[in-house]
Amino acid sequence: MGRQTILIDADDTLWENNIFFEQMIGRFLSGLAHLGFTAEYCRHILNETERRNILQHGYGVKSFRRSLEDTYLKLAGGMARKEYVQEIEKMAGELERTPPQILDGVPETLAYLSGRHRLILLTKGEAAEQAAKVERSGLARYFDAVEIVPEKDHATYERVVHQFKIVKSNGWMVGNSPRSDINPALRAGLNAVFIPHHATWVLEHSELESGGGKLILVATFRELRGHF
Ligand SMILES: [Mg+2]
Repeated sequence: MGRQTILIDADDTLWENNIFFEQMIGRFLSGLAHLGFTAEYCRHILNETERRNILQHGYGVKSFRRSLEDTYLKLAGGMARKEYVQEIEKMAGELERTPPQILDGVPETLAYLSGRHRLILLTKGEAAEQAAKVERSGLARYFDAVEIVPEKDHATYERVVHQFKIVKSNGWMVGNSPRSDINPALRAGLNAVFIPHHATWVLEHSELESGGGKLILVATFRELRGHF
């Protein structure tokens, strides 16, 4: 295999991310128990609120905090308390300060891959927040470039291919999300490596589609070494 260009997702591919959001949602929902709704119903309202807020405000902790507050105000109605809104803000602050927890085998595998191929980190989210995570992860040195984008869709991949002059047959996207990493990359004619993560966010769930390029499935980041 000659030198390839490998685009690599960050959240839930290089480091844990969604588990911290899920922990906070668990705390949030237990704080709503006295309102008398089922946890499933509250979660449904939260998911719908997130979908709407992401369109308007993008991804990231600030948008997530807004979704929790909107959900709380909607469900609590006249029973809403200022103290709980402040509690949400406090939890969001903790979430923002949580250091990246690097997944098993990632640094040594990146060290191996970066010696043979061009690596580009491609993550979506709020620019300053994602940049801070990349910085604190200590993994930036393995990458030729770090791209932080508001959304990862077909147009994003076409733009990145153009920007980095990637020959599609030698280009790969590696990630845990069928919706953001695998399907749009394949549709753009790139190859893809799917690394499922058990805690992938429900809004990232999607059926895997086929596309122009090759699709490889591996169980762990470390297994990339066997393919590149
Ligand atoms: Mg991800």
